[in-house]
Amino acid sequence: MAIQSLYITKINDHMTELIIQGDLDEHFVKSAILELYLKQGIPKNVEYILVIDNPKYYKIIEPKIPREARTEFRKAYKTDPTSMALTYGVFDLIIISISTQEEAYLKTNKKALVGLMAHELMHIKQRRRNLDRSVRADAIRAFSKFEPQLHKIQIPQKILADFFATIGESANFTLKDIYDNFQLIDEGMGDYILEDYWNLYKSGGRFSKPIFYSTKDSDYKLIEHIREAIDFELNLISAISPFVKMARSGNDRAKKLVEFIATNYEVNISEVANEYDDVIQYSIDNFAWSSAYRQKYFTIIFKRALFLLTSIERKFDQLDLTKEAPRVLNEKQVVVSAADQKKVRPTNKPQSAKRKKIKTKTTKIKVKSKRKVRKPSKS
Ligand SMILES: [Zn+2]
Repeated sequence: MAIQSLYITKINDHMTELIIQGDLDEHFVKSAILELYLKQGIPKNVEYILVIDNPKYYKIIEPKIPREARTEFRKAYKTDPTSMALTYGVFDLIIISISTQEEAYLKTNKKALVGLMAHELMHIKQRRRNLDRSVRADAIRAFSKFEPQLHKIQIPQKILADFFATIGESANFTLKDIYDNFQLIDEGMGDYILEDYWNLYKSGGRFSKPIFYSTKDSDYKLIEHIREAIDFELNLISAISPFVKMARSGNDRAKKLVEFIATNYEVNISEVANEYDDVIQYSIDNFAWSSAYRQKYFTIIFKRALFLLTSIERKFDQLDLTKEAPRVLNEKQVVVSAADQKKVRPTNKPQSAKRKKIKTKTTKIKVKSKRKVRKPSKS
């Protein structure tokens, strides 16, 4: 199969190259790019837009990536081969990855494809306004102020640190998606992203739901499962908040999608979903391009997470985290089965390395944004 390659724009000194490989209609993809270009423009120096329908085609872009960034880019894509926007210094790469059955609509639904491309491009535009760095800095500021509250909790500080690091990182990605999608809505692109999310969330139709409690978890597992449930909910919020915003402006289809997500994805995480409803309201009501908005967003998320942890601590008097063997508990617990949750995640390794910590080691790969959605699996 030949590689389809095309320089799509040549404005002043910059050009963006579109590379298509796979069982894809070249003219369809080009017309989607053209529509996006006419509606939104393509920012300067977005070097490549790669559109592939199998992760193995990723290798065709590798020689074009700056040598120092190749390992990190490869890791970012291969650990979770989904659509993403990657940046190294001033080098930007957008990958539109259409490899699963649930994403197949992107091969024929132009509006959805334009919506997805617009979303990835917006990450690059906002990154250039320094958003990614600001979000990270505000997460760290919020956590530093919040941290003293953890000292009175009877859970080893190391475990608490890991717990909140994961939640902070996940909240970080969610907030970037909120900024991204809100701006697209404000620029008249709401129906395009709605078309994309609608198809993605609906494509599974019936799928298994995460099980939110178990009577068989060890204490450590319990914390692990609360963490996963919150992470899961935060991922949903990046889809829910924009469409609640659109629903409030009278968009019925957006309202239907929000209801669909609540009915089909939040079923067994109602405790977490209830606690986090405030985050959705806050993200819309107080939305601002400001450090204060971002810090409060993180603070609410951390406080709700602590509440969920401590309510369980009260239930069981004292958590014994050194205990190895699982003990049978006689009360319903707020947990998610990891095995079951995997069924609604895009891959078996949904948490790539980049999502583990708030403070990452200094790396030249400054920012990357992955598509924040959970795909339903067929059941
Ligand atoms: Zn995104």
